[in-house]
Amino acid sequence: MCGIIGYIGEREAQPILLNGLKRLEYRGYDSSGMALILSPKNTLSIRKSPGKIKVLEALLQKRPMRGIIGIAHTRWATHGAPNQINAHPHFDCKSEIAVVHNGIIENYSQLKKELMKEGHKFVSETDTEVIIHLIEKFLKNGNLEEAVRKTVAKLEGSFAIGVISSREPDKLIGARLGSPLIVGLGKNENFLASDVPAI
Ligand code: GLU
Repeated sequence: MCGIIGYIGEREAQPILLNGLKRLEYRGYDSSGMALILSPKNTLSIRKSPGKIKVLEALLQKRPMRGIIGIAHTRWATHGAPNQINAHPHFDCKSEIAVVHNGIIENYSQLKKELMKEGHKFVSETDTEVIIHLIEKFLKNGNLEEAVRKTVAKLEGSFAIGVISSREPDKLIGARLGSPLIVGLGKNENFLASDVPAI
């Protein structure tokens, strides 16, 4: 269990998310990552890396992302090695939706089997990846909130999640069960975080 930070507002999200991750560093982690909906084209972009947040920071300096909505994560691996592919955020088959997750999805292997049968392509070894493919599946007939609601109803275990989608670039969605996640309400901006120091 490590850290999540999410931002939606009017300011550049990348420095805010990076600063938030640094403030969550005390929780320990083995990798980190960030996803933004890029302005002005509303496409999803992801950077992630094993190791220290400094490594992610260097990556973001080299290939910065500009946008006003995003999610970021520090990972403490429970399912799958601490490598680049298993680092969060994870994304759907069309790279339109991204999720960060803290916790453990206990029924992930059954869900993964079902989703693979339905044609979803998995790239990581994490339990988390079932979350994003479930959201993708349920999104076919509805909006992102509805799809996240249907998804969390299928999950057993503990989770705090943050979700963004390039198709609905005005939404930052969070959900939790048994893992911490707080909402920070600001003026023309809002936050999600695992703990108060991050915001
Ligand atoms: N179970 C997830 C994973 O192994 C999340 C771990 C965490 O809470 O950081 O990727």
